[in-house]
Amino acid sequence: MIPPESADVRGRVKISLNAGRSISFDWIVHLGGFEVVRDNLLTGPILEGLEQAEGCLLCYLWLREERRFIEHLLMDEVVMNPDFLEEVEAARGFCNRHMHLFYDIAYKSYGADGLAYALYMQAVIERIAGDFQSLCSRFERDIKSTVKFHLPVRGMRRKSPSLYRAFERVVEGERSCPVCSHLLSFDSMRLSTLVEMLGDKDFRRKFESSDGLCLPHFLSAIRLIDERGFENAVDAIQALLKVEMRRIGLVKHLLSEFIRKRSWVFKDEPVGSEVDVNHIVMNLLSGVEGLYYRSNRVPYTLKRDG
Ligand SMILES: [Zn+2]
Ligand SMILES: [Zn+2]
Repeated sequence: MIPPESADVRGRVKISLNAGRSISFDWIVHLGGFEVVRDNLLTGPILEGLEQAEGCLLCYLWLREERRFIEHLLMDEVVMNPDFLEEVEAARGFCNRHMHLFYDIAYKSYGADGLAYALYMQAVIERIAGDFQSLCSRFERDIKSTVKFHLPVRGMRRKSPSLYRAFERVVEGERSCPVCSHLLSFDSMRLSTLVEMLGDKDFRRKFESSDGLCLPHFLSAIRLIDERGFENAVDAIQALLKVEMRRIGLVKHLLSEFIRKRSWVFKDEPVGSEVDVNHIVMNLLSGVEGLYYRSNRVPYTLKRDG
């Protein structure tokens, strides 16, 4: 039996995320034990995504957070935060996608003049300039003495990491893009909340009438359930499968309709819901643009072991 309200002890827990961001949730202790009551900060966005998203709700939340986070990074207190600046330097800026998106937002947001972008990039360029300088000096020294770098000269023995590897470290940095890192931990938190919510019968019913998840997010959900195990895991997997199968079936039908109506015989038939199928199938197969994006500054084929 839950004790009366007057016996409760309440509080708020704050969890720090990247770049000074945080989430918080309420807790409440009853006389009979400890119960965590999460407020809408965790479950609210999932319900909102379920109602607002056209397609995968986690992709909807991913894109929204991506923009919000970059806008947050443009705020003075973040630009001046030495810890975050060190993260940006260590990553040598951002990945290809986020360098460009950051640039667009830095100039298109209200009141933005590019100063914040310039301050981040100044730190990065100074780090790269220093690293280039020391590597070039080392290279010059090595040419004059014994060869330390592995150079592509016939008959030369490999004595230490190659010149390419040394410069790759300078260009690629020691850590991944801070925006990508943030989005991955954000996505993991939302995914975990969604899977837990799928244990609830009422929520499952709502989810089953939604557009479901894109295939990358579907796979992430299955992997999470596989690895961690959840209460009502079987119900959750059945709900995920039911929605996914229905979505795949619908897209399959829309694609055949789209192609059929392009034929001469049926070209006069009115356009129906198949008109957007290419956009729908693109997002179903690969998720929203930039999802789980990874980029290096060198082509993948140049990456080699050790
Ligand atoms: Zn998705
Ligand atoms: Zn990135």
